[in-house]
Amino acid sequence: MSSLYIHIPFCRQACHYCNFHFSTTLTYMDDLIRAITKEIFLRKDFLKTKELSSVYFGGGTPSMLKGEHLEILWERITKLFILKKNAEITLEVNPDDIDSDTISNWKIFPFNRVSIGIQSFEDEILKYLNRIHNSERAVYGFNLLRDAGFDNINVDLIYGIPVQTENQWHNTLEKALRLNPEHLSAYCLTLEDKTALSAFIDKGKSPRISEESGAVHFEWLMFEMRKHGFTHYEISNFCKPGFESRHNLSYWTGEEYLGVGPGAHSHKKNIREWVIPHNVNYIKSLSDNILPLESETLTNENLLAEYILLCLRTSEGCSLSYLKKKFNKDLLKDKEKQIADCVEKKFVVISDNKIILTDRGKLVADKIALELL
Ligand code: SF4
Repeated sequence: MSSLYIHIPFCRQACHYCNFHFSTTLTYMDDLIRAITKEIFLRKDFLKTKELSSVYFGGGTPSMLKGEHLEILWERITKLFILKKNAEITLEVNPDDIDSDTISNWKIFPFNRVSIGIQSFEDEILKYLNRIHNSERAVYGFNLLRDAGFDNINVDLIYGIPVQTENQWHNTLEKALRLNPEHLSAYCLTLEDKTALSAFIDKGKSPRISEESGAVHFEWLMFEMRKHGFTHYEISNFCKPGFESRHNLSYWTGEEYLGVGPGAHSHKKNIREWVIPHNVNYIKSLSDNILPLESETLTNENLLAEYILLCLRTSEGCSLSYLKKKFNKDLLKDKEKQIADCVEKKFVVISDNKIILTDRGKLVADKIALELL
């Protein structure tokens, strides 16, 4: 499987918790999109195949792209690559960008999956996060997408927000489920350096993030999603049967992917590359025909750690036979005591020669992964 990720580094407004690479200065948008098309051309041979299983327009806010931007990007992609039959083609959208005109534009292109960044259905919480939309707009946008024929929609939510009550989280989840999406991603809020939220907390203007309330929200999330027939296939991701995000699965299972646009990462075999996260320097560098890339070669230890960290988070778990075959690692023997301890505490089960997290283990997944490294 080979995937292409396109990072669109613009947003209308900076959400208080976000540390992704984006700019609210839109002056360079045309130049930047042209630069991305050049980057795609210059890196067309990065992947071992020209056949793409998934394409993902992420950001930033790709739903801010105009029709002509999408046109030149798609022209370049389809000239250089072949979209596999049934390829998953995702567009990330923000609710405030969804109207009948933008949807008509998106329908011209081969997008067959939309991921909508709703985050909460509580206006008070959306304000706290500095999201630009309100809950009414989110419901309106979702319904417009549905009416336009999109039959694979993901809803993104955030929980564990300092000012969020349990009731507010229950209400948000209930409203999301009422929309009947095919996929739901729910992330526990984490505090990132150099964000407005971290400054507010440091200055005492916001309560601190509480691990305990994050865990309580997560338990409710797992309970409700199961009750509604969703598969919990990765710690933060739930889907109706057959609607797993193939693009995300390719990241978690170590497949190769090419990421273009400032801040995007790429991976193949033991090589990781990333594009410098600076819009103006990116444009300048590509106009000089220089790829603004940095890279690292991953050691076997890096790849092993990455496999354990990522696969443990999935419902497929960490395959002991794969570890033996690929890394000559007998994890069961090397970490006998730690694994026995996790089994005894009912954090993991060993099934079909795989270590799989239980619901209880999902609450402490990162700690378990560290024990196994
Ligand atoms: S819209 Fe998304 S990428 Fe942009 S600031 Fe908000 S969270 Fe970050």
